[in-house]
Amino acid sequence: MFRDALSVLPRVHIAFAVKANPNLAVLKLRAAEGYGADVVSGGEMDRALAAGIRAEGIVFSGVGKSAAELVRALDAGIGQFNLESEEEGIELAALAAARGLTASAALRVNPDVDAGTHGKISTGKAENKFGVPYDLAAGMYARLSALPGLEMRGLAVHIGSQLARLEPLERAFARMGDLMRTIRAAGQAITHMDLGGGIGVPYKAGDVFPAPADYAAMVARVTADWDVTLMFEPGRVIAGNSGVLVTRVIRVKPGVTVPFVIVDAAMNDLARPALYDAWHDFIAVTPSGERMVANIVGPICESSDTFAMGRDIDAVKPGDLAVFRTAGAYGATMANTYNSRALVPEVMVDGDRWAIVADRIDPAAILAAERVPEWLV
Ligand SMILES: *Cc1c(COP(=O)(O)O)cnc(C)c1O
Repeated sequence: MFRDALSVLPRVHIAFAVKANPNLAVLKLRAAEGYGADVVSGGEMDRALAAGIRAEGIVFSGVGKSAAELVRALDAGIGQFNLESEEEGIELAALAAARGLTASAALRVNPDVDAGTHGKISTGKAENKFGVPYDLAAGMYARLSALPGLEMRGLAVHIGSQLARLEPLERAFARMGDLMRTIRAAGQAITHMDLGGGIGVPYKAGDVFPAPADYAAMVARVTADWDVTLMFEPGRVIAGNSGVLVTRVIRVKPGVTVPFVIVDAAMNDLARPALYDAWHDFIAVTPSGERMVANIVGPICESSDTFAMGRDIDAVKPGDLAVFRTAGAYGATMANTYNSRALVPEVMVDGDRWAIVADRIDPAAILAAERVPEWLV
């Protein structure tokens, strides 16, 4: 859908942001749909390659790529390195030149635009750790362009995630266009512009978000005279509403004002509410038609293990199955085993077919990977 919306643009490469949902079967599907991949670690690069995504279609982003990761990515022949500092570019150039290679790179710029999203998923304000300062970017681009081992081919920007409005994106893209013209006027080449991801999705029934077609129309307007290959790195808008977290009600406990519905999913399975105060709609698998107002919590021993407070929901009782919706992006990928809980399994569903695409990793397997030093006993 997102892909189709962008087909109004002339030259486009869409790299799925692997961190949103890195499951191997999901990435296989992306490969079949023709997506490249935006990766932020060597581990994600390996997944994208294992799924059959072509190395040239992979963009390596991330503020802390290690020398070992840069070398592995060079050896794999990945298509574009998004540099987050001049220092990283100098290091990459030296590593590539030493191997007789030339790395294609873009410089990630921090446009100092407020994305209007949650502070913890905002990345394009001057004080954020991402990208290089806007005013220094042209100078850096010129110096990096002169280095052997590096082919600077463009600029990259990504101002944050779960963006509800197009206006901050439009402002950031317009600023990137100005910078592109300044750099070209100084004699350096720009053939690619990477506009990142960040398009938000509705989590709450009734929320209205910009449609992919509106995003595409805005991009077409802003970039009409750019004459570049446009690159995109969407994650959430593709994966978010393709997944749910299935959970069972363990118990309903009276509270001071409203009852606590204690479910067997917790913040270790779906971290977003604890991390970003995120909302996930909660619905019973077999609704009775009755409603209740409740706090929905998991079993973990942290008060932040709370999915919702005072929420009007389908009435549920112990043993009932329910789902948290919109868990397809930044869901299982952020899961952990806190409180020695199992690592959440993943199931792919296609019409009436389904398959387990990630096993539940039980606490016993994690315990088996731990060692007691012999000097302790
Ligand atoms: C996380 C991230 C994305 C994807 O963001 P979404 O909000 O999921 O679209 C794209 N590019 C970079 C550099 C990222 O860090």
